[in-house]
Amino acid sequence: LFLIGCSIAAFLILLRRSLIRRRLSLHALVQRGITKREFIPYYQPIVNVKTNELYGCEVLARWKKKGAGLISPMEFIPYVEKSGQIIPITNLLIEKTIKDLSIINWQLTNRVISINLVPQQLENLELMNSSLQLFSKSKISVKQVAFEITERKQFENLAIASEVIAYLKSQGIDIKLDDAGTGYGGFSYIQELNLRSLKIDKMFVENIGTTDIKLSLLDSIIAFGKQAGMEMIAEGVETKEQSLYLLERDVYLQQGYYFGMPMDAEEFSLYNQEIQKR
Ligand code: C2E
Ligand code: CA
Ligand code: CA
Ligand code: CA
Repeated sequence: LFLIGCSIAAFLILLRRSLIRRRLSLHALVQRGITKREFIPYYQPIVNVKTNELYGCEVLARWKKKGAGLISPMEFIPYVEKSGQIIPITNLLIEKTIKDLSIINWQLTNRVISINLVPQQLENLELMNSSLQLFSKSKISVKQVAFEITERKQFENLAIASEVIAYLKSQGIDIKLDDAGTGYGGFSYIQELNLRSLKIDKMFVENIGTTDIKLSLLDSIIAFGKQAGMEMIAEGVETKEQSLYLLERDVYLQQGYYFGMPMDAEEFSLYNQEIQKR
């Protein structure tokens, strides 16, 4: 019995060591990616269907890792959020976005640049300010910036977040509730944080044209947004039918494969040239 106990203990120690080593190496791998500036922004257009103009774009992270191709944010955002590496990664994305969009003369327009943040980033004013500093030397106005904050995650300190958000708003920055309808805190966040725009998650949009019960949730979210006087953006719009359904309900800011995939700086530059010609 003693021997069995010893070998189980030894096994557990080995298992724990290999888990720690794996975690350490992931941390180091990401760190190296940050140093080598392998995290890059992709841009997805957001269209005003009513005026047929570009409203702006969402910045979506990709990890362009040598030898591994393009890694999706689903693979690394959950980890870097916990490790804290989301902070330098976001700053890297902001720096590159400023550079890319300056080249394509985005600053000449009033288009919105929408950047995803995790709650912890909005709970630290110093952190936010160092990110905003990146814009001060650029041709892009901070007033064009919007931050998307998912309702899937909870704020640890809503009181502080609320102060930081009030400050950001005073700088002309819009805060959008992302993935609206999928989380729990959504409607209370809208009230407590005084938000005026929301993004309807694709999970609801994809039910348009079906008899899924979630379609009534979509209608409720739209009704709520209208009642509260919020600006609404629908994401995950893939078909004309979905686009029209939303437009009929006055949700005219839309984003999705129907209008354009997330694309790299070069493709997005071409996309913008096409738009300008229209
Ligand atoms: P999200 O914020 O909900 O972003 C929308 C996701 O839907 C993006 O996935 C986009 O590529 C995808 N999408 C857009 N249009 C369509 C469509 O018509 N059909 C379908 N099926 N999908 C569409 P992506 O780029 O893989 O990003 C996944 C998630 O990772 C994002 O979801 C966001 O939560 C997170 N994320 C991405 N970049 C960042 C970042 O820089 N910071 C943080 N904190 N999170 C990020
Ligand atoms: Ca988003
Ligand atoms: Ca989104
Ligand atoms: Ca979403």
